[in-house]
Amino acid sequence: MSPLTTASAEEIKDVDAAYGLQNYGRFDLVLERGNGAYVFDTDDKCYLDCVSGLAVNALGHNDHDLVEAIRAQAAKLIHVSNLYYTAPAAQLSRTLVANSCADRAFFCNSGTEAVEGALKFARKYAAVNRPSEARGIVAFENSFHGRSMGALSVTGQERYRRDFGPLIPDVDFVDFNNIDWAMHAIHDGICAVIVEPLQGEGGVNIANVDFLVALRARCDEIGALLIFDEVQCGLGRIGTLFAYEHFGVEPDIITLAKALAGGLPMGAILCKQRVAQAISPGDHAATFGGNPLVAAAANVVVDKLIDLDLPQQAKECGEKFEARLKALQQKHATIKDVKGLGLIWGVETEIDASELVAEFQARQILTCQAGPEVLRFLPPLIITEDSLMGVADVLDEILTNREQV
Ligand SMILES: *Cc1c(COP(=O)(O)O)cnc(C)c1O
Repeated sequence: MSPLTTASAEEIKDVDAAYGLQNYGRFDLVLERGNGAYVFDTDDKCYLDCVSGLAVNALGHNDHDLVEAIRAQAAKLIHVSNLYYTAPAAQLSRTLVANSCADRAFFCNSGTEAVEGALKFARKYAAVNRPSEARGIVAFENSFHGRSMGALSVTGQERYRRDFGPLIPDVDFVDFNNIDWAMHAIHDGICAVIVEPLQGEGGVNIANVDFLVALRARCDEIGALLIFDEVQCGLGRIGTLFAYEHFGVEPDIITLAKALAGGLPMGAILCKQRVAQAISPGDHAATFGGNPLVAAAANVVVDKLIDLDLPQQAKECGEKFEARLKALQQKHATIKDVKGLGLIWGVETEIDASELVAEFQARQILTCQAGPEVLRFLPPLIITEDSLMGVADVLDEILTNREQV
C-alpha cells in the first residue's frame, strides 16, 4: 500500500472513513502545512487559523525557533524516562516556577492527565493533612476538564458524561459564579475545588473576581485545595502568562497543557510547596512526562511568551477585537453576547454556531465552537491586529448576508 503523503484530499478522507474510529466530527478539510497564522490544505489553499489547534499553537505554525529546537533535541535525545535527569525538563521547571506563584512542577502528556494528577495530589494532600475523611470534590456546571474517568467525573456537562458511569463519587457541581451555592457545597468533607478561571469548551465564560476570591477564602477556611484548570486559558491566552494573574487570586494547583509545548503533547501540574510535600516518590508518575523533546519545545514556547511579552500583545490585540465585536453586536440583533479576554472570544448568536463556522471556512478562515450556540475564536498569539479586524469584517459580512435573505 502506498503512503498517503502525496494522496488527494478525497483519498485521505476515504482512508480515514474506512479505518479511523469515527469518533470525531471533522470539517471537510485536509490540512498539509502551516506558516505563522495560516494553514494550507492539500490543494495549497490558504486559511487564516483562528483555532490554533484548539488553543495549542500560540506561536503559530512553523515558528523557526520552535522547529529548530525540536530538530536539534530530536537528534540529541528524544526520551530516556524519568529514571534520569535531563536538562530541558529541569530548565522548564525552573522557568515555570520562577514566573508563577507555584513552587514545584510535574510534567505529563495532556490536559486530561494534568487534571487527573491534580485530583490525586488533592486527595493525597487531604490524606496527609486533614484529620477527617475529606474526599469530596466541588466542580462547576459547564466546565470541561478532560475525558478520562477522573477528569470526566469533574466535567460539568451531561453530554460528555452520559453513558460512561459510574464515574468517581463525591463530586458536587455548582453553578459557575454562584458564590452562595459554592459556599454551601464546600464543606468539611471536600478536599478540592476545581475551576477554570475562564471556561473554554463550556461557552467562553469568565469567572467573577468575587467568586474566585470567595472560593479561595472558603478553601483556606476548611483546608481544601483550590485547583485552577488553566489548560486552555493559561500561558498567555487571556492576556497574562498565567490566568490566575488576571484575577489576582492564587490557586494551590495549576494545570497546564495545550499551548505548553507548541503542539507536541505535554501537560504540567504546578503546585505550592505544601502540596508537593504531601507527594512521596512513587505516588505519581508518567513514562513520557517531560521528556527532553517535549521539554525542549516547551522551553522555546515559554521563553518566547515571556521575552516577547506575547500575553500583553494578546491583551492589546484582544481589546481592539472586543471593541469591533461589541460594535457588531450593536449592529446585528442576531448577536446575543460577546464574551472573552485576550485572544479567546466567544460570540453567542441565534444562529447554530456550526453554520457560522462553515461560512467562515468558505471564506478561508478557520473558527470553532464552544457548545452549540457559541462561535469561538482562538487565534495564535502572534496574529496581527489587521488580520483580526479582517475576521470581524467577515463576521459582519456573514451576518449582513443572512439578514438580507
Ligand atoms: C482541553 C482541556 C482539557 C483536556 O486537555 P487534553 O489535552 O485534551 O487532555 C482540560 N481542561 C481544559 C480547561 C481544557 O480546555
